[in-house]
Amino acid sequence: MDWMRGWKELGDMVWPRKCGVCGDFLETDERYVCAECLADMPLTYFWSWRENPAERMLWGRTYLQGVMSLFYYSYDNDYKELLHEIKYGGNLRMGRWLGGMLGRYMREGYPYPDIVMPVPLHWRRKWKRGYNQAEVIARGLAEGMGGRPVETGLLRRSQYAASQTQMHVGNKWENVSGAFSLNPKANLEAFRGRHILLVDDVLTTGATAEACWGALSVIPDIKISYASIAFVQRPC
Ligand SMILES: [Zn+2]
Repeated sequence: MDWMRGWKELGDMVWPRKCGVCGDFLETDERYVCAECLADMPLTYFWSWRENPAERMLWGRTYLQGVMSLFYYSYDNDYKELLHEIKYGGNLRMGRWLGGMLGRYMREGYPYPDIVMPVPLHWRRKWKRGYNQAEVIARGLAEGMGGRPVETGLLRRSQYAASQTQMHVGNKWENVSGAFSLNPKANLEAFRGRHILLVDDVLTTGATAEACWGALSVIPDIKISYASIAFVQRPC
């Protein structure tokens, strides 16, 4: 609609929006990321790549149906800024948008999950931040897949930051085993035989995916996949 475009153009003049990657001003029709950065996004194509590096990383640690990420996270490009914007900048719309993009790609490839489940934050952290970034991404992803229920009541994070001061820097990210548990009030029968897609913002060592899988895998016949916006590529 013309009047809508008019308002958007006016909005851009008053409060110009910037690309979340390169910082250039966005055109009226661009959303969150400029056309150039969108075209250059380092997509993983894991959704159509069996035995991809993310799956291989989790072999022997979990039994997952599939593991996929939208783009490669690298210290030498600025796409990581998008994650920062979602997690600390409160840009929930961008989170939903990126989740939606991954969901649409996933329609092309992987076996379809029945239920989308964000990796939970500890309630205290969620309360402090006001939202769980993984849940924002999960909601976009569920929409992008053409509509899937988003379940937030089954899995819980019981450990609060695991007192990081007590840990060595090297295993800061590893200390999540036992951090997740199932809600004792949940009806586990409702999840028997279902295919759950766990969603997080970034896949680094796989420790979180492993810990979530550990908690969920007690449910009979359950199938679990894992998706994140970014995948941190590590040297082989
Ligand atoms: Zn850009």
